[in-house]
Amino acid sequence: MDIFEKIYSLAKRRGFIYPGSDIYGGLAGTWDYGPLGVLLKQNIKKFFWESMVERRDDVVGLDGAILMNPRVWEASGHLESFSDPLVECKSCHKRFRADTLEGPKCPECKGELTSPKQFNLLMEAMVGVIEGEKQKVYLRGEITQGVHVNFKNVVDSTRVKIPFGIAQMGKAFRNEITPGQFTFRSREFEQMELQFYVEADEKEAEKWIKYWKEERLRWYFTLGIKKENLRFREHKKDERAHYARAAYDIEYRVPGGEEWKELEGIHNRGDWDLNRHQKFSGKDLTYFDEKTKERYLPWVIETSGGIDRGLLFFLMDSYNEERVGKAEEESRIVLRLSPKLAPYKAAVFPLLANKPQLVELARKVYNQLKDIGMIAWDDRGNIGKRYRTQDEIGTPYCVTVDFESLDQEDATVRDRDSMEQVRVKITDLEKHLRDHLKLRV
Ligand code: ATP
Repeated sequence: MDIFEKIYSLAKRRGFIYPGSDIYGGLAGTWDYGPLGVLLKQNIKKFFWESMVERRDDVVGLDGAILMNPRVWEASGHLESFSDPLVECKSCHKRFRADTLEGPKCPECKGELTSPKQFNLLMEAMVGVIEGEKQKVYLRGEITQGVHVNFKNVVDSTRVKIPFGIAQMGKAFRNEITPGQFTFRSREFEQMELQFYVEADEKEAEKWIKYWKEERLRWYFTLGIKKENLRFREHKKDERAHYARAAYDIEYRVPGGEEWKELEGIHNRGDWDLNRHQKFSGKDLTYFDEKTKERYLPWVIETSGGIDRGLLFFLMDSYNEERVGKAEEESRIVLRLSPKLAPYKAAVFPLLANKPQLVELARKVYNQLKDIGMIAWDDRGNIGKRYRTQDEIGTPYCVTVDFESLDQEDATVRDRDSMEQVRVKITDLEKHLRDHLKLRV
């Protein structure tokens, strides 16, 4: 089994991710997040927001609509740049204009190509109730434009001054020709982005792109991605998107091979977006610099990451199969997820489910620890099985209340990674766990 299959199987078995509309045979390119997946996803979003907005005084947030005036997509270039007949490589997923190709194989990786299609990446929807008067709109193909069309609103309604950024998270939709590799390429997915406005100056742009490249890499490292599994790849001039003056991808190395895959894009968009929206809307989108008394269209440094891709790679990067004893059967799957991301921060067990005193004390401990975050409760089967379950979903600590606990008012705390156990006084448990979990960014 390759790592995608292993993660797919674990994700479904344990309630992280299910195929969308599963009982109807699914809908290609859509996925539903189960009870554990939704916790993991929320934790990723929480830490994105905390480090990109709450901890900074030069970034504000926005939550734009998914449905936008169709003119937005004319201005952004999405309608125009997606109207040529294209072929897509079935293995590297790069797209090429059919009329520029010389042979039947992908010019990049020699993979097999799809037949040419006149396709538009944007998904269509109809707005309105009266047949014949409905208006065609598009589900947003990227969350970026929601920020740029609100640039003037944000400048006018808050006290932001350049350089400053607007961060946003939310769903985007694309009619991908070849969705696949689990959630890696979906038709409905979530993005986490920052559009950072800087002076219209090459040096300034270079300074900030360097800054944001480092920041974003650090963000993934803080959340536990292994250093050797991330790298930057600079786009060559001819592969840059229509809006980009400079472009770098943060790429992730898929475990078990040398395949690097895009996780996040960091781009210098110049004044492409504001310029185009100014033209198409007829509204003045220039920024007035109070110091120099000049008006100009700022440039934009963008960091654009996929939340679902991030989640998939966090799962892959933390996945381990380990022998825990001498015998072949004594093995475990353990997700060494950062405690910041782990769906449950700890699990609490009464040693035996049929001893009311143990259950009562364990319940008390469980309720006491709830202030930390999500805590799991398990009283089924034997203790070894419960440990295996929690290892497999990445719970950093398991707290067991046993007979000694009744006299000594303490409990066993077992560490997911080292499997070591220590006894901790029940009154100290919350502090002990908080100190070890280090949940703040
Ligand atoms: P790709 O080359 O993989 O199609 P892209 O370069 O078109 O991606 P961007 O438009 O830069 O991607 O989007 C920013 C981020 O959004 C990507 O780095 C990725 O993490 C995420 N993303 C884009 N398309 C998808 C998709 N179909 N499914 C899941 N995530 C996606």
